[in-house]
Amino acid sequence: MTNSTYPIGTPGKKWNNNDKAQWLKRQNIKRSYQNEVVTLINDLKGTLNIEQYGELNYTAGTYPLYILKTPNFNANKPTVLITGGVHGYETSGVHGALRFAKTSAMQYCEQFNIIVAPCISPWGYETINRWNPDAIDPNRSFYEGSPAQESAAIMAFIKSLGTDLIAHIDLHETTDSDNSEFRPALAAREGTTNTNWNIPDGFYLVADTKKPEPEFQKVIIESVAKVTHIAPSDENNQLIGVPQEQFGVINYAARDLGLCMGFTDAPYVTTTEVYPDSPTATDEECILAQVAVITSALNYITTSTKD
Ligand SMILES: [Zn+2]
Repeated sequence: MTNSTYPIGTPGKKWNNNDKAQWLKRQNIKRSYQNEVVTLINDLKGTLNIEQYGELNYTAGTYPLYILKTPNFNANKPTVLITGGVHGYETSGVHGALRFAKTSAMQYCEQFNIIVAPCISPWGYETINRWNPDAIDPNRSFYEGSPAQESAAIMAFIKSLGTDLIAHIDLHETTDSDNSEFRPALAAREGTTNTNWNIPDGFYLVADTKKPEPEFQKVIIESVAKVTHIAPSDENNQLIGVPQEQFGVINYAARDLGLCMGFTDAPYVTTTEVYPDSPTATDEECILAQVAVITSALNYITTSTKD
C-alpha cells in the first residue's frame, strides 16, 4: 500500500477530525490485554511489587496501567526503567518486559531498583495498533503537556518518584506491517508522501543522538547477536533511512522527536528494534532478544560504574 491508496483522507491534506473518526471506526479488538498481559503481571505478585500508575479513558475503552517494581527500593541503589508496548502492536516489547520481570529482575534487585512498565499502550496492544484511539503516536508524544494519555501517564508516574534514573530501555519492534499499514497511515494523516520503505532484516538499536554511549550499545548488540541476527545496513549504510553509527546501531534525537527513550535524564538509554517477521525468527526468540538487551545493559552498567 502507498499513502496515495490509503483508504482514509484526501491525498495532500492533513486528516481532520472526521478522517480520524473514520480511522477509529476501522479498528477492532483482536486480543485481550486482561488475559494476555494483566494475568501475567498478576502472576508475579509476591515476587515483585505491582502498582497501578494510571488509567486510560477512551470511548473505545478504559484500561488500568501497571508497573512492576523490584522489592526493597533504596535511595542508595541506581534506578532503572524498562518500558514495553509504547507501540502496542509490537508484541515482543510487551512480552520481553514481562519475561525479564519474571526470569531476571530479581537477579539484579540487589544492585538496582527496577521499574518495569510492560504495556504503556493497552488499547494499541488489543487492536494491534501503533496509534492510540485519537490517531496519535504515543512514541512521538513524550513531552510536557502530552496529548497522548499513554505518554502522559508514565511521565507523571516517573516524575512523582522524584528519583534520577541511571538507565531507560524502551522495547520495540520494526515489522512488515510498518510498510503495509503504519507508514502509509502516517503519510495519509499528515497529507505527505512516505519515502522510507526500508525494513531492516534483523535486530537493531536506536541510541539517543545527545547521549549515544557507543560502548554501551555495542555490548548490547554483541549480547543480542547470540540470540538473534543483527540487521545489516542497506546499500547506503543506513537502517530505516538513517545512517548507521556502528554495526546494528542508529541514533535519533530522542527528546526533540518526543520519543519515550528521551523523556528522562538517564545517562544510559536505548530503544530496541526486534524484527519478528524474519523467516527465521520465532516469537520466543524475539522475547529472548529483548531480555538479552536488558540483562546485558544492566551487566554493562554494573561493571562500568564500579569504583
Ligand atoms: Zn515501536
